[in-house]
Amino acid sequence: MKRALSLSGIPVSPGVAVGRAVVWIVRPDAAPRRDLDREQVPAELERFRHAVDASLREIGEMADQVRGKLGNDYAAIFHAHALFLKDSAFLGPIEKRISTEGVNAEWAVSVVAESLSAKLRDLPDQELALRAADLVDVSRLVRKHLGDGGASRQRMEELTGDNIILVADELTPSDAIRIPRERVVAFVTERGGKTSHAAILARSFGLPAVVAVPKLLVSVGEGDRLVVDGRDGVVWREPPEDVVSLFLERRGRELTVEESLKRRSLGGIARTRDGEEVAVRANIELASEVRDVLGYGADGIGLFRSEFLYLSSEGVEFPDEAIQTAIYREALERLAPRPVVIRTYDLGGKKGARHLVGTEEPNPVLGLRGVRLCFRRADMFRTQIRALLAAASAGNLRILIPMVSGVEEMRRVRAFVDEARQELDERGVPVPDNVPLGAMIEVPSAAITADLIAAEVDFLSLGTNDLIQYTLAADRANEHVSDVFRPHHPSILRLISRVAEAGRAAGKPVAVCGEMAADPVLFMLLLGLGIREFSMGPRSVPALKDVACGVSAADAARMARAALSLSTPDDVAALLLRESENLFSGGAELRTAVTV
Ligand code: PEP
Ligand code: MG
Repeated sequence: MKRALSLSGIPVSPGVAVGRAVVWIVRPDAAPRRDLDREQVPAELERFRHAVDASLREIGEMADQVRGKLGNDYAAIFHAHALFLKDSAFLGPIEKRISTEGVNAEWAVSVVAESLSAKLRDLPDQELALRAADLVDVSRLVRKHLGDGGASRQRMEELTGDNIILVADELTPSDAIRIPRERVVAFVTERGGKTSHAAILARSFGLPAVVAVPKLLVSVGEGDRLVVDGRDGVVWREPPEDVVSLFLERRGRELTVEESLKRRSLGGIARTRDGEEVAVRANIELASEVRDVLGYGADGIGLFRSEFLYLSSEGVEFPDEAIQTAIYREALERLAPRPVVIRTYDLGGKKGARHLVGTEEPNPVLGLRGVRLCFRRADMFRTQIRALLAAASAGNLRILIPMVSGVEEMRRVRAFVDEARQELDERGVPVPDNVPLGAMIEVPSAAITADLIAAEVDFLSLGTNDLIQYTLAADRANEHVSDVFRPHHPSILRLISRVAEAGRAAGKPVAVCGEMAADPVLFMLLLGLGIREFSMGPRSVPALKDVACGVSAADAARMARAALSLSTPDDVAALLLRESENLFSGGAELRTAVTV
């Protein structure tokens, strides 16, 4: 048995889990090249043709499944995939390379697919350019049937066993959303950051998680027994029994406190000690989380990340208008009269969606993401807006637009909303007169022009995860710059203060839906900067409601004014750590990521 070893990383989701490691690996994208002897060539060609046949069969099965669930339009995606596998322009050059160059099939497939997809991507015709991504998918499938895997990992859905602790290099948002929660009890990754979507999802799901653990994949092997402490960022390999007991005892004590905060949270909206009402809502990714919104006593939904409707199905199943309407309607009905803020698709960037963009972007986080992609894929956007408006009469809907960089985009969105309203009117679908439309403030240009945007929308919502990322030029999911990603940087304080002021002047509410709101100390700072509407993962709601009730808004404002006068993040951190302890008189623990 391996000896006990303790590793540490960035804690991103609290709790303790004990289980066995399942190592979830990415294989390199480029297939290795093998040179064949002449006499091996015919067998290699045969092996390639078998792989093509097997891929066609698999595509047919997938198409049948999707057709059954979503209808013919979606199954058509697979038709395009199958065409490549019958096209001599794709198959011919592969066979030629195998026979004339005497190389292995995996290598020939990856080289031909890469060069053909590069040509497709360069075509001016958008529809043809979209085929490039299909071709890459098809080539991966053929490589899988050649036994190469072609950069694909084991499917999340195929994980077997219980008490699994997932050990990976990193998890994308669509990986994380598909974690089988009945089998996986925690995850640990070698890369990542506290505000990456995988980390956000871990908190939503109550899965303990630690990211950015150096040398994780060389230290932990398949089947190793692990303890994960998501509060302090510790991962034990083959832990001694007394260590396991200590962790479990501590977790027992934490659960008792969490239960009592949860009970109190169900008692209604929070009020500060000096009587200011503070709304604490939940952020969700899946409709199934509505249960948690109610269970943890949230005052509605502050952010429904609707793109996960798509990402949770590996980017295959875009729910059609009727399905979307039903999903939104159900959330609205169950939470009425509480507000439900549904954000339109924030796809692109790190949330993949290569199929939708039509090409690999060299720098996707600064590319076709959020509302920009919605404009590019106007069909998808129109459908979503219609579904939202058609559901609106079921409750208290607010529509939120992601990645807005200025006023013009919101004007364009309004035109989409007006058009959708008219279409529904013609169909006889009733839509309430006023469905509030808001802009996310998460791009620095939007924060700087928040006064102009506020004049044209009904509300603003600060997405601090991206606002910090883009303002400080520090990738939110990159552990190498996690020390640069500082929510209490003076630039961030000034931007938030400016946005809060713009909202006040225009009489428009300003909410914070980024992860900053879930940090008790930063919550007090935000309260002091004038914010009265917050949202966060459902499980964080009870503790933050307790913080809201245990502080006076006037004291928080004094602390925020002092913080605004400081010049470095360290000075701000020192002030916040000193003052917040003095200001707060509640039961929650003031655990914070703020450090000097
Ligand atoms: C944000 O950027 O702060 C936000 C709430 O949106 P997301 O985390 O989904 O990018
Ligand atoms: Mg964002």
